[in-house]
Amino acid sequence: MLLSVVVPCMNEEDSVPMLVERLVAATDPWSTDREIVLVDDGSTDGTWGEICKQSESHAGVRGLKLSTNRGHQVALTAGLMAAKGQRIFMLDADLQDPPELLQDMMAMMDRGYDVVYGRRSERKGESWLKKMTAHGFYRVLNRLSDVPIPNDTGDFRLVSRRALDAVLDMPERSRFIRGMFAWAGFNQIGIEYVRDPRLAGETKYPMSKMIRLAFDALSSFSIKPLQMATRLAFLTLLIAALMAVYVFWSLILYSTVAGWASTVLVISFFSGIQLLTLGIIGEYLGRLYVEAKGRPLFFVDEQVGNGVETLSERAQKTS
Ligand code: UDP
Ligand code: MG
Repeated sequence: MLLSVVVPCMNEEDSVPMLVERLVAATDPWSTDREIVLVDDGSTDGTWGEICKQSESHAGVRGLKLSTNRGHQVALTAGLMAAKGQRIFMLDADLQDPPELLQDMMAMMDRGYDVVYGRRSERKGESWLKKMTAHGFYRVLNRLSDVPIPNDTGDFRLVSRRALDAVLDMPERSRFIRGMFAWAGFNQIGIEYVRDPRLAGETKYPMSKMIRLAFDALSSFSIKPLQMATRLAFLTLLIAALMAVYVFWSLILYSTVAGWASTVLVISFFSGIQLLTLGIIGEYLGRLYVEAKGRPLFFVDEQVGNGVETLSERAQKTS
């Protein structure tokens, strides 16, 4: 049974050597039958060179270089597509998720589970803003989503071939992989773990990327925000009706026109609601547009390892 390990890497040159070392150690019981797929997601530092080096010095280490940066979820998808294993283990390059948990995850899978995901009981070395937004996000997402998506999970999990095939069969472009696995079903179970601080470098998830991921998640797994727009519309109609009563009342009683303040208030309130509703529709429409274009998710620039000639072999040939 082949075990695949998939890791997306963007500007992780300082993490890669340690990552491979820990992965090689953690997968030792399956060392005869494992591959490590490192996906370089358009790094601008020496990540690719480091991946090539690792693939030369360790058997079964493969590298995949995307043509440009496509984001964590797409890079992970690329690696998952390349993985050939019967069981597939995925984690981040910065060793925030301990690879040693693989042993326990494998044991769980032996008991018949298809998806064993890591659930963060604690996050070390992350800013309170990140912790708070992440905490809030998972709660809101679950409120809105029709699929129960486990709270506080990331992309740290071991999955079976059939669960992976189910996810790879989903053609959508805006990919929220943890949600897609939740949606796929099969037997799932979580394992609690403490999330360590980043090994090296900085987070590759600035606020803007986090917000995009959050919108991808919400729009991929819920149409409730769209329905919320309708509800808001009803609410404002109700308020408008009350306002109308008030306006007529004061007209009859005091025969005055409504004051400037209330006019401004009403206008700003309603235009706010309208913009919000338009924005929600825009979010969905934009994603529909992207899906409709049906572009390939990524292009592979280079590959190393496992049958593919390594860079040094190619260099020897050309020199
Ligand atoms: N990553 C990627 N492409 C990106 C951003 C991130 O492949 O555009 C990778 C990154 O190298 C890491 C993983 O995704 O392996 C998670 O990123 P990071 O650790 O920066 O996120 P955080 O843990 O801070 O949420
Ligand atoms: Mg990280």
